[in-house]
This record gives sequence, structure tokens and C-alpha cells, in this order.
Amino acid sequence: MAKLVTLFSSSSGNSYYIGASGQAVLIDAGRSCKQIEQAMMSNNLDMRSVRAIFVTHEHTDHCQGLKVLASRYGITVYSSAGTMAELEKAGRLDSRFNTDIIESKVSLGDMLIERVNTPHDACESCGYRVTTADGKRVMVATDMGIMLPSVRNAISECDAAVIESNHDVNMLMSGPYPYVLKRRILSDKGHLSNMACAQELPHFVNSGVKHLILGHLSAENNTPDVAFQTSLCSLLQAGMKEGEDFTLQVAPKETNGKAVIF
Ligand SMILES: [Zn+2]
Ligand SMILES: [Zn+2]
Repeated sequence: MAKLVTLFSSSSGNSYYIGASGQAVLIDAGRSCKQIEQAMMSNNLDMRSVRAIFVTHEHTDHCQGLKVLASRYGITVYSSAGTMAELEKAGRLDSRFNTDIIESKVSLGDMLIERVNTPHDACESCGYRVTTADGKRVMVATDMGIMLPSVRNAISECDAAVIESNHDVNMLMSGPYPYVLKRRILSDKGHLSNMACAQELPHFVNSGVKHLILGHLSAENNTPDVAFQTSLCSLLQAGMKEGEDFTLQVAPKETNGKAVIF
């Protein structure tokens, strides 16, 4: 039985716990160490089960608590070479913990973690696909301006996936963000909109992905309800049945104690 817990998911902090059989990893550590510890505790998760932290990219909402968390628990940090260089430059690394570059994949205990590059305004950003100790697959794919075929393929072979549903385009366009920022978010290296996410989902369900989790919502340009309804509509229009063919949920900004068990 594998477990995915979205500890934090939004533009203001991201961290995901994925594990089975006492072996787990964290994808990103984008809140303070204390907040991540508390979120773990409130879900009855043991930090000692975390074998490594995989960092998707160097933006603060993905690495804020990295340094303290990794050094406090002696957890190895993995990322792409480009991300590691940026983390180093920003003073996010510490000699008290091990760091390692993940080229394409790495085995940890009975887990396999694969890196899939993502298009984003960061040095060398990526998503990760984790095969848990009991053979289940889950992918975390956020912070990407478009859905690349390689990311789509990686998600297609999963049991569960966290997919970015960052903004509603109309809310973004009519919202208060400066024009330059709007353009950045909408670009191919920005963030995936609700609609761009929603139109991908029927394909994933068709290829066997059972659990869909919408993640990394913008606080200003989205609401959980708008994101959920946009994706649900797309799935229902494709003739799919909620609960039977798929489960759909929005990752809360902060954990609500619910886990996806698969
Ligand atoms: Zn982010
Ligand atoms: Zn980012």
C-alpha cells in the first residue's frame, strides 16, 4: 500500500511525501523545517522513513526548508546538476548533509526515482516519478509552462499523479499582477493553467492513472473550486465516471491530514 501525502502545495510552498513499507522520499522542501516537521507529525509520518529529498528546482517555494531539514536529519539531497549549482549559489546546501546529482534515475532501497525534465524559468527543473517499495508509481509534475511529451508519457504509466493546475487564465489576465509577470506565467516556461491541465486528464485516465491530484495552485489567480470544476468537466465530457474510473482532488495549500492511498 503506497501513500502520497501532499504536505504543502501552492505558489507559497511545496513538499510531497511518497512512501510504502517504511521507505519514503520527499519531493521538495518548500516550507520551513519546522512547518514540514509539523505537517509530517500531523499525518503520523516518521521523518526517519525519509531516505532522501528530491528537489525539482531552485525557486524558494521548493527549497525554503531544505538546508535545516536535511542537516537536522542527515537526509541526502538529490537534484539535477543545474539545480544543485543554483542551490549552492543561493546558500541552500550544507556540508552536514550529502548531495547527489540524479541524471536519469536512482534506486534507493526498494524504490526507484526517475527524473523527467520540465519546461520552467529555472536552471534545470524537473519532475520526479517514484516507484514505491510495493511497485506503485506516482509522479509529481508541477512548475511547467507546457505539458511536454516526455512528461505526459511518464505520467501515463503511473497509478497516481500530482499535476500542476496553477491558474485560471481569465483570473490571471484580469488580476493585479504586472504585465511582465503575467507574460512569464503564461509562457512556455511558466506555469500550467487549469485548462491546459484539464485537457490532459482524459488521456491519463485512459492509460490507467487512477488518482489525479491537482497541485501548485496560485493563491491570487485560482481557487480550489475553479481548478476542480475545470478538470472534472473535462473528464466527465470524455465519458469518464468519478469514483469508478478516477478520483480527482485538489492538493490543499497545507495538509488537511488526508492521504492518497493506492
Ligand atoms: Zn513553484
Ligand atoms: Zn518555480
